[in-house]
Amino acid sequence: MMSNSFLIDGAKKGRIERLEIPDPGLGEILIKIRASGVCTTDRRIFSGEIRVPTPVLGGHEIAGEIVELGPGVKGLSVGERVSVDSINRCGSCYFCRRGLDNLCINSRKQNKLEDVFMIAGGFSEYMVVERKKVFVGADDVRFVDLAMSEPLACCINSVGKAPLDVGDSALVVGGGTMGLLHAILLKNSGVTVVVSDPAEERRSIIEDNGIEAIAPERIAELASLQNEGNGFDAVFLTAPAIETLENSIGATRRGGTLVLYSSLHPDSNVGISWNAIHYSELSIVGTEGRKAADFRRAVSLISRGMVDLKSVVTKEIPIEELEEELLRSPSGSDQRTIVVF
Ligand SMILES: [Zn+2]
Ligand SMILES: [Zn+2]
Repeated sequence: MMSNSFLIDGAKKGRIERLEIPDPGLGEILIKIRASGVCTTDRRIFSGEIRVPTPVLGGHEIAGEIVELGPGVKGLSVGERVSVDSINRCGSCYFCRRGLDNLCINSRKQNKLEDVFMIAGGFSEYMVVERKKVFVGADDVRFVDLAMSEPLACCINSVGKAPLDVGDSALVVGGGTMGLLHAILLKNSGVTVVVSDPAEERRSIIEDNGIEAIAPERIAELASLQNEGNGFDAVFLTAPAIETLENSIGATRRGGTLVLYSSLHPDSNVGISWNAIHYSELSIVGTEGRKAADFRRAVSLISRGMVDLKSVVTKEIPIEELEEELLRSPSGSDQRTIVVF
């Protein structure tokens, strides 16, 4: 099967190439991709901020329909709408067997299609994937929504890191796509959410979802309104801003949880008071990707329309416009751009 695919050759160099996608082998499925989200990771790879071997075929927020089942594939049908959990989970390393398959030590195993390095491979009309990476959505789910399964699954994993209950409160730092998805999930769970972001346009998108949005300067003020003045039960850092860390610790109540969702490029050591953590029983936790189980939950929520994604997907483009899109820096009102086929 020939497929138009977008390859990155190096920093700010991309091209569309006709690639030969092989027939699905034993236990594999051929998918016609219908929607592929443009993630910050893709932008960082294109800009050269994240260095990977090239040429590389990116795109890991993938929804499409099944066009062919390889030998031995059971329980799926041609035409079904699916989302692809594209990460490698080897199933045999210590972490996979321990139920922590998001921490699989073989997750970055290099996949290649002839001389092309594959980071998932969603920026392409077709792809072949293993059965275990495919999750079936509803018959009538929109492909652009289903493509948000991957980021939503990562946010489900993150939200689960804080022991929140109905009636609790949370601060989400950063009002980008990930911040918005965190806020939507938390609100759906009966948690009072406040999102902080310096950009007014982003705050208004958050507010359109019935969620309070504030400028970062107001974090302390809002924290003083939670839990009788003791701060938020949990704070999620979805933006890579070191300067927000101290503020965020100050906004978390005693015994509360601070979740570091965003990665930081370049990495940096951050000074945190030992005793601030000790005396206040503050939990600081990381969250990496998502487990396969989180992916299933994301597909289920999206399929049943339980997550309103209308302000998450703000732009749809054909693959011919992907290079131009990757050269742009998203502005305040931009959330997810989706390549549609
Ligand atoms: Zn992503
Ligand atoms: Zn593993």
